[in-house]
Amino acid sequence: MSITVVGTVAFDAIETPFGKVDRCIGGSATYFSVAASFFSPVNLVSVIGDDFTEEDAAIFKGRNINLEGLQRIAGAKSFFWSGKYDFDLNVAKTLDTQLNVLAEFNPQLNERQRNTNALFLANAQPDLQLAVKEQSSARIVALDTMNYWIRSAKDALTRVFREVDLIIINEAEVRQYTEEPNLVKGARQILALGAKTLVIKRGEYGVLMVTRDAIFAAPAYPLENVFDPTGAGDTFAGGFLGYLASRSEANDREMRRAIIFGSVLASFTVEKFSLDRLREITIADINERYQDFRALTHFEDAG
Ligand code: AMP
Repeated sequence: MSITVVGTVAFDAIETPFGKVDRCIGGSATYFSVAASFFSPVNLVSVIGDDFTEEDAAIFKGRNINLEGLQRIAGAKSFFWSGKYDFDLNVAKTLDTQLNVLAEFNPQLNERQRNTNALFLANAQPDLQLAVKEQSSARIVALDTMNYWIRSAKDALTRVFREVDLIIINEAEVRQYTEEPNLVKGARQILALGAKTLVIKRGEYGVLMVTRDAIFAAPAYPLENVFDPTGAGDTFAGGFLGYLASRSEANDREMRRAIIFGSVLASFTVEKFSLDRLREITIADINERYQDFRALTHFEDAG
């Protein structure tokens, strides 16, 4: 059961309290597709410039990722993002965003990309997300967004919120969008627009999943060495949706498992810069950490 992602394939410059890289591979669709491809075949839809070499594209090779939707524009540069984290690794400060090839990005899905089990609309201008959604016949449509769109395109974002099944968003963005300090009340306000599930990312505190009838909370994996949180959100979304797309049903049990797989994948991403950790792991590493999560959260009934 396949999945389509529309998002960025980028170069990032990152500074954390533990180190600095001037140029590394990044982008929402990059993290998402590598993570999701452990569970489901992925169609990647994005755009790059000719600065993105074959060697850079090796990150996708040997994985279940179809690259026919990765458009290359000659004579142009790839999307570039530069960010910095201080000791609170939950807060990314954007230093620079250069749209480059993204400025003209107007994705047209082909037959294969339209007819998938799931569609992930990575963070982008909400009208563009809606235009992509309208081309797809996916059973599960999920989206991510960011504070910038809540501030600058709230009405357009509300229109796309009404059209998707699943919203993956971080804690501060729920508060910003709803102007409601209480997270559960805020979640209910967003769900009232139409989505069935809201997955709230809470950085090092884990994830809260809110549906109309249930709430599920998962901690983040307690790592001693968190190196670079960039990509954690998109990796989480990839693990979560990749797993879900591989199942015949998206019931509560499967959704909970998907939350843990997403959290497992994200916990690997933050251990090194860029996709350096993600590119070395195997499904056996993922399954082992999934079991560690069970042990971490298991407790008995009070006697
Ligand atoms: P996250 O998972 O939220 O940490 O996303 C990290 C990735 O998002 C980075 O590798 C960036 O290249 C990419 N990114 C940053 N800003 C934007 C933006 N405005 N639009 C699309 N992608 C972005």
